[in-house]
Amino acid sequence: MIIAHDSVVTIHYTLKDDEGTVIDSSASGEPLAYLHGHGNIVPGLERELTGHDIGDKVSVRVAPGEGYGEYDKTLVQSVPRRALRGIKEVRPGMHLNAQTEEGPRTVTVTRVAGDMVTLDGNHPLAGKHLNFDIQIEDVRPATEEELSHGHVHGPQGHHDHG
Ligand code: ZN
Repeated sequence: MIIAHDSVVTIHYTLKDDEGTVIDSSASGEPLAYLHGHGNIVPGLERELTGHDIGDKVSVRVAPGEGYGEYDKTLVQSVPRRALRGIKEVRPGMHLNAQTEEGPRTVTVTRVAGDMVTLDGNHPLAGKHLNFDIQIEDVRPATEEELSHGHVHGPQGHHDHG
C-alpha cells in the first residue's frame, strides 16, 4: 500500500547531522507510527515519503526550512543569573521553561559567564540539515477515530490521552 494522505505509516528511522553523528534513532526500540499528511513529522520528510511503499528504504536530506526552522539569532538573549531564581544550579545544556512575549517556550542554557546566563530559544535542531535513513515497515489506512484525533492509535485501537 502506497503512502498517501491519511495513511498510518510505521517506520524505523535514523537521524544524523551533517557530521554523521546520530541524533535520534528508533533502531534499538519500537518503530515510529505516525499519521501521514497531518504535520506529525517534519514537512520535508513527510513530503519525500509520499508515494513510497512497504519495504522501501529512503534516504532524505531535509533543509532547515523544512525541518525545525532556520536559526533565529533574535531568540538568543543574556539574562542576569538572578532572573533565574528558583533554579538551584544553572549549567550549559540545561533546558528551561521560560515565559516570553509569545507565550511559554523551552530555552536552552548555552553559556554561563560570571553573573550572566545566555539562553537560546531556538529548537536544538534549528538551522541544521536533517539526514534521515528511513525503512518503511507498514502502511495502512487510518481509522475514522484516528482521523478525528489527528494522530495514530495503538494496535488495540484506543489509547490513553492522559
Ligand atoms: Zn487519540
